[in-house]
Amino acid sequence: MKVKVADLEFETLIEHKAILKRTAELAEEFNRAYADKTPVFLGVLNGSFLFMADLVKQVNVPCEVTFTKLASYYGGTSTTRNVRSDIELNTNITGRHVIIVEDIIDSGNTLAYLIERLRTHKPASLKVCTLLSKTDAIEILVPELAYVGFEIENEFVVGYGLDYKELGRNLNDIYRLVSVE
Ligand code: 5GP
Repeated sequence: MKVKVADLEFETLIEHKAILKRTAELAEEFNRAYADKTPVFLGVLNGSFLFMADLVKQVNVPCEVTFTKLASYYGGTSTTRNVRSDIELNTNITGRHVIIVEDIIDSGNTLAYLIERLRTHKPASLKVCTLLSKTDAIEILVPELAYVGFEIENEFVVGYGLDYKELGRNLNDIYRLVSVE
């Protein structure tokens, strides 16, 4: 299916049904790996809000759910190198088992910055779960990246939390930019 978001046309890449199936598998991995712990799921806003909701509904170990905000993306379709330093953390993560929940890893710069900041709070463990990973675009390898929903091509996507010019976050499926030849 094709949709128009702002001035660009997108086509279906991953349907919500497939996302739910994958989040169930990821939740099962968390249920096993954190069976004797009370992890903190730390979502990175705004992009991760729908993924977080679908994921934690299927987690059955006691857990906390919280969000932080930081951005490296300013309304276009390519990442800038400037990660804004406005990380807000309302949960004390010292000594806690933290799982960062991300929407998408592109170059890895945002994640590397976030991990560096979070490490100063001395969590007991730190892992990353991302819905999407543009594996070919990664510039910084992040060893904490342990859980990946889907590996995608190096292309621009919207929907299911991800925006283009702040629009499209409410779409239930994930769409990719229709390439203009
Ligand atoms: P990185 O720092 O890894 O290059 O970029 C990560 C951030 O860039 C993501 O959290 C997301 O906000 C944004 N981003 C990267 N690729 C895309 C994309 O294809 N679509 C959208 N909507 N945002 C993206």
